[in-house]
Order: sequence, then C-alpha cells, then structure tokens
Amino acid sequence: MRYTFDEAMDMVATGVARIGDELEFTGLVDITATSQDSPLVEHKATNGSQFLCLHIIVVGCGIGGLSAAYCLGRVGHKITVLEQASEIKDVGAGIQVSPNLSRLLIRWGLGKQLQSLATRPEALKFLKYSNGEMIGWTKWGNRMEEDHGAPYYHLHTYHKCCTPSLHHTLRLSSKVVSVLVDPGTGIGTVKLENGDSVSGDLIIGADGIKSIIREAVLHGPSDRDTDTNTQVKKLTIPIHTGDCACRAVISTAGMRGDPELEGLLERKEIMCWMGPLKHIIGYCIRGGKEYNLVLVHPENGSNSRAKELYMAEGSVEQMRADFEGWEPRVQKLLKFVDKTYVWPLMYREPLDKWVDTDGRVTLLGDACHPTLPSRAQGSAMAVEDAAVLGSLLAHISHHKQLQILLHAYQDIRYARTRETQLAALANHNTFHLEDGPAQRARDESMRSAMNTVMEHAQGAEEEMDGNMNMWADRKKSQLQFCYDAEAEAERWWVEHEITTGGWRGS
Ligand SMILES: Cc1cc2nc3c(=O)[nH]c(=O)nc-3n(C[C@H](O)[C@H](O)[C@H](O)COP(=O)(O)OP(=O)(O)OC[C@H]3O[C@@H](n4cnc5c(N)ncnc54)[C@H](O)[C@@H]3O)c2cc1C
Repeated sequence: MRYTFDEAMDMVATGVARIGDELEFTGLVDITATSQDSPLVEHKATNGSQFLCLHIIVVGCGIGGLSAAYCLGRVGHKITVLEQASEIKDVGAGIQVSPNLSRLLIRWGLGKQLQSLATRPEALKFLKYSNGEMIGWTKWGNRMEEDHGAPYYHLHTYHKCCTPSLHHTLRLSSKVVSVLVDPGTGIGTVKLENGDSVSGDLIIGADGIKSIIREAVLHGPSDRDTDTNTQVKKLTIPIHTGDCACRAVISTAGMRGDPELEGLLERKEIMCWMGPLKHIIGYCIRGGKEYNLVLVHPENGSNSRAKELYMAEGSVEQMRADFEGWEPRVQKLLKFVDKTYVWPLMYREPLDKWVDTDGRVTLLGDACHPTLPSRAQGSAMAVEDAAVLGSLLAHISHHKQLQILLHAYQDIRYARTRETQLAALANHNTFHLEDGPAQRARDESMRSAMNTVMEHAQGAEEEMDGNMNMWADRKKSQLQFCYDAEAEAERWWVEHEITTGGWRGS
C-alpha cells in the first residue's frame, strides 16, 4: 500500500501506523505532471547497456536524506531510508532557499508550492546592533532572479514545501549503530539499535554532523584524517564554535501598529544586526504572518544545554539578557518571543574522503561538510549533493561503475562545499567583530558597496570584489547562486562517460 507523505505522517501522528512500521509512500506532487524540463525523470544507462537498479540505503531523513531518496528513487533505484527519530517533523523555523536550491526544487515540480507558500525578500540589510544604523544594503527581489536564473525564497517549513514526490520505503525509529561492507560481495549491511540489519548495494550517510556513517567511510574513529597534500593529520571531530543559535518565530499581529516594527514587515527585507560576538537574522515568513528570528551568541547559562544535543528548548529570559543594550526594535521583537529552541553551532574541517575503500559507502550533507548558518547554504549543499548523486547514478549499468561514480560525485562536490563552508565561517567572524578598527573597516567596506549601488541604482553594474558584505560581491553571488548541480553532473558524464571496465573520456 502506498501513501502520500501527509497521509503517512498523519498515520504516525495518530497512531494508525506504529513506530518502526515500514511505510511506503509517494506522490506529494505529481512530478511527471508538473516538472519543468527535468532532465532526469527516467534513468539513462548508456553504452547500449541496461540500467542497473541498486538497493540504496539512505541513513537519515533530514533535508539531505529525503532529497537523496527522491533523486535516486525517481531514476529507478530501490530506496530504503532509515531514520532514528520516531517522526519526521520540521524544526518549526524559517529557512532561506537560495536560487541554487530553488532552481532544483522548481525543476522537480515544486515551483507552485514555493510561489504560494514562500516569501521573496526584497533586500538584505546589515545594521549596527546598538542603534540600528544601516551599514550595508543589497537589493534582491526580482534582481536575484534576473542575475541568477531562479528566485530567492524564505520558507517556514521545509519538509512539506520542499519534499518532492517520494519513491521510497521509510523506516522510523531505526537508529543505525554500525556499518559493514563484505569485501567479497560488495554488499553493505547496517545494523540497527533494535538488533535488525538491512543490506544493500550502496549506503549513503545523510546522518548529519554527528554522522556514524562517516566512521565507516574513514574506517575507524574519525577524529583525525590525513590531509592528502600535506600528509598532516587534521582534526575532523565536530568542533563546537562556542556559539549557539536560538531560533524563534513570532506572530506579526503584535508588530503591526508599531511604526518601528511595521517597517520590518512592509519591505520584506532580511535584516542582519551585527554586534560584538553576536548577530541576529530576521525575516518574514508565512506571507508576512510570522517573523523568523535566528539569534547567534556565545553559549552561556541556560542556553548552553544544547551543547551535547542536536537541538533543545532554550531560555527566553536568557536570550533577552544576551541581547540587552541592542537597538529598540530588537528589544521589542524579543518581548514577543515566548519559546525558543537552541542549536549548538558546530564546525568541522572540510573532509577529503567521502567514499569508503570498497566504494560502497558515501556521505552527503552535514555528514561530510557541515556549514555554519551565516551563508544560509547548509540545506542547499545537501540537496545539491543529492542532485549530483541522482544524476550520476541514473547512468549506472554495472556494479563496477559504482566506485568510479562515487569518486566522481566527490570530485564534483568537494571544492564547492569546501568553499561554501569557508565562506560561512568567514561571515560568522565578520558578523561578530568586536567594536574597534576591524569593525570600522568592515562597516566602511559594506557602506561603500551600499553607496555605490544606491548611486548607480539606474543601471551601472559594479562588481564589489571582496566586499565584506559577501552578497554585494557579484562574482561570489554568481558562483554561489547560478550553480546547477544536475548540469554539473551531466557535464561530468559527457566528458567522462564510463564503460563497465573504465573511462571513455579523459
Ligand atoms: C540556526 C540554523 C539556521 C539555518 N538556516 C539555514 C538556511 O536558512 N538555509 C540553509 O540552506 N541551511 C540552513 N541551515 C543549515 C541546515 O539546517 C543544515 O545544513 C541541513 O539541515 C543539513 O541537512 P542534512 O540532511 O545533511 O542533516 P540533518 O538535517 O542533520 O539530518 C540528519 C538526519 O539523520 C538522522 N540521523 C542521525 N544519526 C542517525 C543514525 N545513526 N541512524 C538513523 N538516523 C540518524 C537525524 O535524526 C536527522 O533526521 C541552518 C542551520 C542552523 C543550525
């Protein structure tokens, strides 16, 4: 029996389906009816060979795992998703969907959903924490789409808006505890905490920053891994940045009628208040009915409990205390907050081994390149990974090709995800500069970009290379947002098309 995603989730919520049941579900949207120019709805093994259907085990049903299940399922592979949680739910906070992500989602048939549910930000503003002075400004709106070929959106829910048609078996309450690949048969087996085991041709670790599958890829505890260039052992355990992100969503009903706060709603701008060791991101979601806040600060007091956890409820009082002395609008906004959840912000050095020695286990998303939120690209990177894997494995016709295609996946993705990780880290530091010469230089740099854009509003194009407002740097924006993950994978295939035994091209 196949269910829609909503039906399956309702069945779990209402107890009709038991935790641990296998629910096969499909069809949040009818992809074949709505997809626009999707190049990969059908599998396409070439060289006159027949497509090889693999059984793929995806560990983790976050944004990356769900997208991988979709991208690999729609080209014809059999997918089993194993998720440790007992239900799939959104974190209940806003998420930014940049053009490199919306491009894929629209192609996969979700354009109408995005249009009806998401908000399109008109501009990005950087503000001084103490008095709200505008330090930087970049116009988005239609300009975003004109420059990058797809819109920028703010969404309030990801799973329901951005999960394309699903073709997989989902097993909830299925925590994976170990992975083993039989070198003779190449079959990979994951063991679950409840004693069950599941075997398949390929195992994908989409299990987030604390990934256990990462251990299998690195063969042993992954706290160290050798830099292939320098042979230096580098630390790859998750490093706690010392900061936490509190997320809160408030109703805008109370904001209306207050002239200071109404301005935040009318112009649909994304605000970034920058202060010493802290920053706040604010934007409208649900068509202006709610305002999403992300408050990043050094962890302390009651809001440090999240350190060992993925996410935990935090203290609103502590949050207000953390931002005491920030400009009046911030104080007013925080008065409306009645609940907050805290994320520890973890970082990991870029990992340069994504595929195990046998070529049967790989990683995607935060499991191999956790990205701080300061570039709003973590989910986008996970979905791009999934798109590349789906595109490459659409061509598979023999088991021997698997290892080559997985290494191709890493080659296509490594530099991009590394750059994005580092860009997010750089922004994190830029936003948190303490008052002093570096902060003044940052403000000057952002102001000069803002003034140039405002002076040339009638059309002149400025590059703003290396500006401290990374979104003002047109080259950087084009690299980040024009990227088409499926096109990159197809380009690789055309250049390297492989046969059963090896490469055709260079
Ligand atoms: C405050 C904040 C704001 C952010 N804002 C944005 C934004 O605006 N835009 C953006 O693109 N990104 C944003 N991100 C980043 C984004 O949330 C992550 O990069 C993204 O969710 C990673 O997806 P993932 O699927 O790789 O991992 P996760 O979302 O971490 O999913 C991993 C899944 O694996 C499961 N799992 C783990 N271990 C096991 C196991 N052993 N067995 C079975 N299941 C397991 C987990 O339960 C989970 O469901 C933000 C992050 C934070 C913290």
